[in-house]
Amino acid sequence: MADKRAVIAGVEVSLDHWIDGQRVGSAERFANASPIDGADLGSVAAGGAAEAEMAVAAAAKAFPAWAALGPKGRLPILKRFAEGILARANDIAAVETADNGSLLAGNLHRMVPRAAQNISFFAEWALGLNDHAIDHPEVVNNVRYDPAGVAALITPWNAPFMLTTWKVGPALAAGNTAVIKPPEWAPLSCSLLADIAHAAGLPPGVLNVLQGIGEDAGDALVNDARLARISFTGSPETARIIGQAAARTITPMSSELGGKSPFIVCGDADLDAAAQTVAGQYINAGQVCLAGTRILVEASVATEFLAKVRAAVGQMTVGDPRLPTTRVGPLIHREHFARVAGFVDRARAAGADLLWGGGRDAAGALYFQPTMFAGVGPGDEIAQDEVFGPVLTWQTFADDAEAIRLANGTRYGLAGTLFCGNEARAMRIAERVVAGTLWVNCFFVRDLAAPFGGARISGIGREGGTHSFDFYCDIKNIAVRKGSFASPGSPS
Ligand code: ADP
Repeated sequence: MADKRAVIAGVEVSLDHWIDGQRVGSAERFANASPIDGADLGSVAAGGAAEAEMAVAAAAKAFPAWAALGPKGRLPILKRFAEGILARANDIAAVETADNGSLLAGNLHRMVPRAAQNISFFAEWALGLNDHAIDHPEVVNNVRYDPAGVAALITPWNAPFMLTTWKVGPALAAGNTAVIKPPEWAPLSCSLLADIAHAAGLPPGVLNVLQGIGEDAGDALVNDARLARISFTGSPETARIIGQAAARTITPMSSELGGKSPFIVCGDADLDAAAQTVAGQYINAGQVCLAGTRILVEASVATEFLAKVRAAVGQMTVGDPRLPTTRVGPLIHREHFARVAGFVDRARAAGADLLWGGGRDAAGALYFQPTMFAGVGPGDEIAQDEVFGPVLTWQTFADDAEAIRLANGTRYGLAGTLFCGNEARAMRIAERVVAGTLWVNCFFVRDLAAPFGGARISGIGREGGTHSFDFYCDIKNIAVRKGSFASPGSPS
């Protein structure tokens, strides 16, 4: 039976699952609309227990042969996969933007190239995984990174294509097979990923896409006892639920769970650069887990800096994310809009000072104005909880101790940004801020070799470089007594 397809932004996209190298439908389907203008993007297969079972079974069946290929055998296939992503950059970017409202230019020039890099980088890194031996007086410890099995990869809607490849890259490079559960508010770009994987020659069952609602398809998936790994990016609330499933089967889980990251500006910083970067926190309507949403400014420059930020924010055009001049697109969904508006309304009711924004933008139903609150206490909801919208808070500090106290004053610990003119001072502050990543005089620079993850409720585990393989592999030590073999064995 032909799969159900739609043409999105001129690109044909399957709305069905991809299981065992085939399109598979579901009797149940869910509606999907574009946040840009509410356009109908077709009804997507809503998987349940049966489809989750099929997907995990397919991945389990494909695992032994994929694992046996070894990193060298997998490399050419994964390289073709990465090239296939680049070859379809325009299609992926257009579909992602239609589906989740993220900036087209950002998708085309940053997210898609990065997605391709996620695949090729980890495929190459895997080549050197088993080169590690630790010498001991009696034995040689040969450290082996073995494939673990089937990985469930669950991704959020704000950057689904890039974040899926961030998991798929190391999972497959390590020799695992995967079942991807894309987000129901932006399910389409992962469907293209399956087409690209297939065209690149990934064997059936190595990469599967299970579409559906989190509480149904996702829940069935994470409760499958055959899983070897669960990698999740989303909210702490959902992580708690998935974590219970992982606990029942003792399945290792890595999670990246958003943040409420501080953006610290010292008086001696390059205030123009800092102001531009603060304005940049509104990009993609603030639906960025790494965004520095709590602006902490040294009191001595607060007035001067506020004027610079206000001017920079004034340059941020809100509107259609397909236009190159747009910096702030729509929120993803009307439910999410209501959630963001709720935060803003409660902050106003609690007496916070609205410096700008505060409501719907004239650009359309799901567009929210860049918003800034001052007069915020460190314990207030608006300074504590992740809004995941274009809403920032403005606080001042008198000295470094206060900056650090404010910075560390939430339950989150994903990232932080610091603008500072003095290296010693910058390092003193940076070393004391609780965060998985702390950017100094820059923002959003991500090196695939560097560790990435969150402290506190921002997540469990680190990925990136060898850390990704620490998670996706079963690490084994083959301890061989020195001199116990009369002659060296011939390699198999
Ligand atoms: P967000 O707040 O970003 O929407 P969620 O944590 O709700 O984040 O969702 C992130 C991903 O987790 C989505 O793909 C969603 O479908 C999935 N998900 C939601 N609930 C569950 C669940 N109970 N089990 C497995 N996956 C889930």
